Amino acid sequence: MTEAPPNRHDLFLALFPSEPTFRLDQIEKAYFTESMTGWDSVTTLSKDMREVLEKEIPWMSCTPVTTLSSAAGDTHKVVLSGIDEEMFESVLMINRRDQWTICVSSQIGCAMGCTFCATGMMGLKRSLSSDEIADQYRFWKQFLSERPELPQRISNVVFMGMGEPLVNVENVKKAIHTWLDHTDLGPTKVTVSTVGVLPVLEGILTDPDWPPVRIAISLHSPEEESRRKIVPTTAPNFHKRLAKWTHDYQEIHGNRRHHVTFEYTLISGVNDNEDEAKLLVKFVKTTSAVKVNVIPLNLVEGKDYTASSREGIEKFKAVLLNAGIDVTERKTMGRDIAAACGQLALTIKSGGKVVG
Ligand code: SF4
Repeated sequence: MTEAPPNRHDLFLALFPSEPTFRLDQIEKAYFTESMTGWDSVTTLSKDMREVLEKEIPWMSCTPVTTLSSAAGDTHKVVLSGIDEEMFESVLMINRRDQWTICVSSQIGCAMGCTFCATGMMGLKRSLSSDEIADQYRFWKQFLSERPELPQRISNVVFMGMGEPLVNVENVKKAIHTWLDHTDLGPTKVTVSTVGVLPVLEGILTDPDWPPVRIAISLHSPEEESRRKIVPTTAPNFHKRLAKWTHDYQEIHGNRRHHVTFEYTLISGVNDNEDEAKLLVKFVKTTSAVKVNVIPLNLVEGKDYTASSREGIEKFKAVLLNAGIDVTERKTMGRDIAAACGQLALTIKSGGKVVG
């Protein structure tokens, strides 16, 4: 099965086809109201309707199986189970404003097969429904409310968990719209990170329903052949088409806050030498992307890759900086609970602590 399960919205309409549409808004609002903890608490609905909903539609689309916290306490990971008992992961990380960023999954496993990534090794089991994506936010809100000693605000969401979000674009869009409508997240606080599924990226350009979120493209190499060794699904003429897309995107959606970022995982001896850095400068200058975010490789069992040395990372960044390119480096968090970028594969082993 690769299709996502039906979402609550469709189940509700099947049960109550003649209900007015405002009823659905009422229900969506209730999901994101902290004082509402189950159908019974939604007293704006009739008792009869609540009884039917209690039996037919789960209040949460996914339930926690295990929750782990890193030794530093700055990262938490949950394994969630969907109604079909398929499991996926979601991560909560502290950010530099002492607020939280959620790293959400969009699929169970992934078909993209990036060669440094644990999720890619699982293959694709199925996509997540829009509810399963949106409810990762609800789960973490509940987690934080049960721990009043922690900061409470979730300020950012990044699609950097399991799966390729643009392969599940309709459910990703629905989940984003749900957050934008019912939480205090603004569109520039949501980042969709993609390996670069060009037909979908191109579709976004003319999609009136595409929310004005940030987009991060996982580039990993400035050249097609070498990129294909890291991202096997790299399409022909990838870099040329991507460069054109960045200009089109910038023209339609772009301003200082809605920019496109390139993500670049540094793998020792594979894509981290000075020549690659110079080629990357050359490529970035053909695009309208304004930033490169380098990511130190997180090790994955069963993969031969090793991480670049600190010296290698600094040298690589220096080439970009000297060429006037804005470079940031992603802080690595949650390695001890296999919650760091590229490590999500339902691994329960932990150097941190099991908290649920
Ligand atoms: S890096 Fe992302 S797109 Fe690539 S296999 Fe892993 S989850 Fe999929």
